[in-house]
Amino acid sequence: MYKARAYACTSPTAALAGTTIPRRDVADRDVRIEILFCGICHSDLHQARDEWHDAVPTTYPCVPGHEIVGRVTKVGPGVTKFKVGDVVGVGCLVGADHTCPNCKGGLEQFCPNATFTYNSPDRHGTAPVTYGGYSESVVVEEDMVLRIPTNLDLAGAAPLLCAGITTYSPLRRQGVGPGKKVGVVGLGGLGHMGVKLAHAMGAHVAVFTTSPGKTEDAKRLGADEVIVSKDADAMKKHSGSFDMILDCVSADHDINAYLNLVRVGGNLTLVGAPEKPLPVSAFALFFGNKTLSGSMIGGIAQTQEMLDFCGKHGITSDVEVIPIQRVNEAYERMLKGDVKYRFSIDMASLKS
Ligand code: NAP
Ligand code: ZN
Repeated sequence: MYKARAYACTSPTAALAGTTIPRRDVADRDVRIEILFCGICHSDLHQARDEWHDAVPTTYPCVPGHEIVGRVTKVGPGVTKFKVGDVVGVGCLVGADHTCPNCKGGLEQFCPNATFTYNSPDRHGTAPVTYGGYSESVVVEEDMVLRIPTNLDLAGAAPLLCAGITTYSPLRRQGVGPGKKVGVVGLGGLGHMGVKLAHAMGAHVAVFTTSPGKTEDAKRLGADEVIVSKDADAMKKHSGSFDMILDCVSADHDINAYLNLVRVGGNLTLVGAPEKPLPVSAFALFFGNKTLSGSMIGGIAQTQEMLDFCGKHGITSDVEVIPIQRVNEAYERMLKGDVKYRFSIDMASLKS
């Protein structure tokens, strides 16, 4: 075991602060990664503040961070896929059994023995729970490590590891491509990746936002049209017209207003994770044989596929790079929607 510098919070109301955490020594098939950048996902804030208490209670201290990009500094003797110096990524998953039906189906995120990057029981016993990417280094089994295309900016590539795959996976599942009309609700970290990816897949993309000030940005990111969701007339014009709507909102909102915009047989996928349940109108759903579904991140092979797609299309997240010392301020700004469109922590700042 060795000690690594990190930022952690010790209760739902405590600010994140510098600390040291234990990391395991590399085992046979482990890769040790010096973390260069880590994105700030809204899930980090939900869990740091124990907002998902009923579903996934938070164990403290909590070191968030699951949008990790870094450089390999050490490999175990059994490692075959990576070598020292490789630029790699780690997303929300750091372990799975690789033998269950979900793993075999490429859905490691639903493996009964999955280990998440932070706040998940640590099967290696290094600490009670896993500690995430707000840290100088991490040790991960090679099967959970991704390759970052060499043409991508690393600060902007980090958010692909969660926001990228979380939006890519349902867009693919719904067959998004040319001739499809796709709506993205909420232009935040996930939403802006959804817009870029759906646009690159060739779909007609509409953004629904509560922030009129984001209109020009949405168009620059690839939206063909922008609808301010508080404008009832503008919403009505799109009634029953969407093949798919991807809902990326982090807070309470009316999903029935969006179900009404889905075409007959179309789909609304929820990826946002508000603290409280959302009421669903049966009429909004059955009048049109619509489906309402959810989607959680993506498996390892599909995450690599998404990264390769982003490499091919030159897609990264629009990031504001910050030092770790500004993480608490970044959380407050994220809550106010004051981020364009993802914070990416420059982990070199941990050393200062
Ligand atoms: P974010 O950057 O904070 O973006 C959320 C966006 O939602 C905001 O930019 C805002 O967009 C909109 N919004 C916020 N409050 C709203 C309200 N009260 N009513 C309507 N719209 C509101 O968050 P994120 O990192 O993209 O994450 C979004 C959600 O997805 C979080 O709940 C997160 O935990 C969850 N998540 C889920 C998965 C998964 O696997 N399913 C993975 C990662 C994250 P506008 O200003 O455009 O309205
Ligand atoms: Zn995330």
